[in-house]
Amino acid sequence: MRCLRRSLWGIGHMIGASVPETRQTVLQKPMAMASSSALLPAGRDLPEENLRLTPWAKARRRIKTLGVKAIAQSGVARLAGWGLGGKGAILMFHEFTHCNRAKFGSGCHVEDFDLILNALGDSGRDVVNLSEAVRRLNDPDSQPFVVLTFDDGYRSNVELALPVMERYGVPATIYVPTEAVTRTINAWWLGLRDIVRKNDRVDFEPTGTRYSCPDYDSKVATLRHLIAWVWEDFRRADMLNQTFRDNDASLPDLAEKYFMSESQIVEADRHPLIEIAAHTTTHRALRLLSDDEVRSEIADNKQFLESRLQRPVTHFAYPYGQPSLSGRREADIVQSLGFQTAVTTDPGCLQTTHVDDLYLLPRQDCEYSEDGLANAVCSINGVFGAMSGLRSSMVGSSGSDH
Ligand SMILES: [Zn+2]
Repeated sequence: MRCLRRSLWGIGHMIGASVPETRQTVLQKPMAMASSSALLPAGRDLPEENLRLTPWAKARRRIKTLGVKAIAQSGVARLAGWGLGGKGAILMFHEFTHCNRAKFGSGCHVEDFDLILNALGDSGRDVVNLSEAVRRLNDPDSQPFVVLTFDDGYRSNVELALPVMERYGVPATIYVPTEAVTRTINAWWLGLRDIVRKNDRVDFEPTGTRYSCPDYDSKVATLRHLIAWVWEDFRRADMLNQTFRDNDASLPDLAEKYFMSESQIVEADRHPLIEIAAHTTTHRALRLLSDDEVRSEIADNKQFLESRLQRPVTHFAYPYGQPSLSGRREADIVQSLGFQTAVTTDPGCLQTTHVDDLYLLPRQDCEYSEDGLANAVCSINGVFGAMSGLRSSMVGSSGSDH
């Protein structure tokens, strides 16, 4: 879930999922309705909320979209790329889709992906794999480059994105957690999306709230609110089992539906344009785990993948890879396990200095449901990374990483 603060509409990530802006600024409760006892299960009396996007949130989104479009189309982004683009950029995607609306705004539209690859071809940047990226970082005379990465092992990576990649002849790395393959992963972001999609009312026991979400707008607002609630404290991801049971959401079924199977990852890895890489066993936030747990999360996933793929797995992505959840401790463990690179979700382009720290590489989120091409052009040229850096410096050393 879908990076972290990139987009009001980037609900999907896990998954790289985005953290929606604060509820106070994005959502409003047009009415705080008293519970209707006739609708409640016996013994339950949950207060009901009807969340919606505020007009201000919608306007702000529109303004941002127009601004990004203007920067991309005017050539300002490309101009900025000379100074901000560095040697290259690693782009991050998760799901691909033919319909963002069906996924409540998450996922990269296949047509946008096509436009992005087309634009990359015109930009003079080569699309390369991670090993070649490392080589180019070490070579001052190398051509600028872009790396494509997909997180979590979605079926749509091979079913929708790969045919587009084949047309352009460009490679990508897919980071796969073990439990996505074994169908035991706590894909809470998919579970929440499923219950909001299927239900006009959602009883959410962890907060003691019944959410009313009968239409698209209220479903988007509710899903965004619930995902943000988990992102506030990832221990909450383990509090949702009863909610999923109560609302008839089967995480194993969702994993089967959305993630590649074992045979699919093996087959994908044999494709000349695909490389499977590591993404932990359970896809938990590593900062919450002990040193030993972090080590086994990463080492066991590496071993799982290597035994299936019959080759060394040397690239890694941190789940929820923001700086507050994946830092030096995690990077040192990854390095000690023999990986060549590890990527975060911290926005930014690759500079030559990154050869000295290949285990906390920045990535640019490119999974936007609106104007994906314009956002990608800004990402590739370092515009968002620079804006993020500017925001951090304005916040100061007591910033929001913790
Ligand atoms: Zn992930």
